[in-house]
Amino acid sequence: MRKPIIIGNWKMNKTRNEALKFIYAIKDQVVSNDQVESVICAPFPYLRCLVKRQGSSLRIGAQNMHFEKSGAYTGEVSADMLSLIGVSYVILGHSERREMFNETDESVNKKVHEALTHQLTPIVCVGESLEQRENHTTNQVIEQQTVAALSGLTVDQVKKVVIAYEPIWAIGTGRTATAEQANETIGYIREVVERIYGKEAANAIRIQYGGSVNPANIKELMSQEHIDGALVGGASLDPNSFLSLVNYAD
Ligand code: PGA
Repeated sequence: MRKPIIIGNWKMNKTRNEALKFIYAIKDQVVSNDQVESVICAPFPYLRCLVKRQGSSLRIGAQNMHFEKSGAYTGEVSADMLSLIGVSYVILGHSERREMFNETDESVNKKVHEALTHQLTPIVCVGESLEQRENHTTNQVIEQQTVAALSGLTVDQVKKVVIAYEPIWAIGTGRTATAEQANETIGYIREVVERIYGKEAANAIRIQYGGSVNPANIKELMSQEHIDGALVGGASLDPNSFLSLVNYAD
């Protein structure tokens, strides 16, 4: 059985005070980590203060990192720096980073390796544009991104990765993929993983859906066979909304 994982991606939002208020408001009401993994991926300057207050069930993640261990990379942050301050997850290859910051399949793959070396759980984003969906190349695009991101990993490492299927046309647009569309593409990702890494890896790897997930649609999405969780932007910013997402089963 795969444990559900719900992740809030704050992107470049909130003041430090707002971040602290959020964590105090939710930390005692987050569903037990035995049932659901709940994670907030916050801007770098807030990570340490959130880790200190994360409580027993919430975990904290970053939204990016560099693949090198150290060196002359002005403005970058390493996996080791994140893991040493108690961060346990990192989003890699979000479509906003691919589109605006030249993130490539190759750099995502290097980052996945580096994250795993430092006991960070990589949340690897894959997803097609509207044009690609309309051209019927969704599966091809998703397959290429998935194969590239996981390249060179062992079966045991693949089992630790989380993939987030985020169709670009559904991010921040209020336009969610239907639960069936999301399940179908996520099922395809699982098939791709099985073809390369075998059944055990395909059964273990967790694959989330992301793109306009909110408290009103989470339950239907989570009821689908292949959907193991959600990566949520806008609806993760409000404490009550985030609580309804992680407590979706209530
Ligand atoms: P959204 O963002 O929930 O606001 O659509 C999702 C994401 O970008 O991860």
